[in-house]
Amino acid sequence: SLGIGGVFGLLLVIAMQWLLSQNQTMEALIKQGLQSHEFKPFYQPILHSKSGKIVGCEVLVRWVKEDGTVIPPYQFIPYAEDSGLIIPITEQLLYRVVRDIKKLGWAGTDKFMSVNIVPEHLYSDDLYAYIKNLKTDDSWDFKNLSLEITERRKIEDLQQAKVTLSKFYELGIELKLDDAGTGYGGFSYVQELGISTIKIDKMFIDVIGTDDMKNSVLSSIIAFAEASSKKTIAEGVETNEQVEFLAKHGVYKIQGYVYAKPMPFNELVEWKKVAKN
Ligand code: C2E
Ligand code: CA
Ligand code: CA
Ligand code: CA
Repeated sequence: SLGIGGVFGLLLVIAMQWLLSQNQTMEALIKQGLQSHEFKPFYQPILHSKSGKIVGCEVLVRWVKEDGTVIPPYQFIPYAEDSGLIIPITEQLLYRVVRDIKKLGWAGTDKFMSVNIVPEHLYSDDLYAYIKNLKTDDSWDFKNLSLEITERRKIEDLQQAKVTLSKFYELGIELKLDDAGTGYGGFSYVQELGISTIKIDKMFIDVIGTDDMKNSVLSSIIAFAEASSKKTIAEGVETNEQVEFLAKHGVYKIQGYVYAKPMPFNELVEWKKVAKN
C-alpha cells in the first residue's frame, strides 16, 4: 500500500500534470488568438506636465476576444513568455503600432510609441529584421518607436543583448529601462545597454507624500538619472500632488491615471481631440 509519502507523491504528480495541461491549453489558446489577430495595442499617453502636451505613448497589449472580452496582460503574458509566443505577439503589436504612428502623422516629430520587449527578443536578430522591414517609406521614422526593457527579469546573455540593442540604437530607436529600481542590476544595464531613458516604477511614485518617503529609493533613482544624464519618465502617477513633487525634482514626463488610462487607438484619437493634444 501507499504510505503517506506515496500518497503525497501521487498528488504531486497529479498536480504537476494538471499544471502542465493548463499550460498546454493556454498555449493552444494563445496560438488561436494569434491566428485571429486578437492581440491589440492599447495606448497610454505620456504627457509633459509643464506644457500638458503628449510626448508619446506606452503600448500595452490587450487580448481582445471575438465577443469583445478584454483580457489583461497578467493573465497571459507569463504563458506567452514561457512558450516563446511573446515573440509573434510583439510582432503582431508592432505591425499595428506602426500603422497607428502613420495615422497620427508623427513622422518628423519626436513623439514615440514605446513597446515592451523581453530578454528573449535580444538573443536573435528576428525583432530587428522585423522592425526594419516595417519601414517601407517616410510615413514614419525609427525615432517614433522606442523599446522598453524591464529590469525585473535577468538578461542572461548581456553580451548578445548589447550587440542586438546597439543595432536598434543605430537605427535611431531609443531604449528605455522599465521598472527601474525594482529588480535586477538596473544601473549596470543603463551603463552597458545604451539606455537613454529611465522609467521610474509606480512602486516609488506611490510613496510620495506618505511616511515612507524618508527611506524612499525615489530620490536615489532621480539622482542617478541626473548624474548619468539620462531622461526620466514617471509611471503610475495618480495624483496632482505626485505630479508637483516630481516636477520639483526635475521629472516632467508623466504616465498615469492622473492624465489617461491605456485605451484602444480609436479612443486615443478622440482623447487627443478633447485634450487638444
Ligand atoms: P509595465 O510595463 O510596468 O506597464 C505599466 C502598467 O501600469 C500597465 O499595466 C498600466 O496600465 C499600469 N498603469 C499605468 N498608469 C497607472 C496608474 O496611474 N495607476 C495604476 N494602478 N496602474 C497604472 P498593464 O497594462 O496591466 O500591464 C502590466 C504589465 O504587463 C506591464 O507592466 C508589462 O510588464 C506587461 N506588458 C504589457 N504589455 C506588454 C507587451 O506588449 N509585451 C510584454 N512583454 N509585456 C507587456
Ligand atoms: Ca513598460
Ligand atoms: Ca513600467
Ligand atoms: Ca511597472
